[in-house]
Amino acid sequence: MSIKITVLQCPECHTWIFSRTNHDWRSCPCGLLFVDGGRQYLRFGLLKQVGEDFDYSSIKSKVLLFNVEIVKKFYPDWNYRRDQYGYIKDEDIEKYEELKE
Ligand SMILES: [Zn+2]
Repeated sequence: MSIKITVLQCPECHTWIFSRTNHDWRSCPCGLLFVDGGRQYLRFGLLKQVGEDFDYSSIKSKVLLFNVEIVKKFYPDWNYRRDQYGYIKDEDIEKYEELKE
């Protein structure tokens, strides 16, 4: 069984990030983009001042399919601050199964 998770890519550092669980507010390594909401909802925004011409469509998104056994690790990963999940380097994104509509 797979679970769909939306990941967003920071247009500056190109890291893909996702919120692992409720209350998992996290930012990308460069501190521009944040995500929140776990699998209940997706809230995201910017943490740095950007110009009026900032192109929000430069924030790319994908829906990835995660094995349920991996998803079970997300809550303890967040709760015990192990922080093994939630960041995906751009060079690794192709290793993940993507939901295509
Ligand atoms: Zn970034």
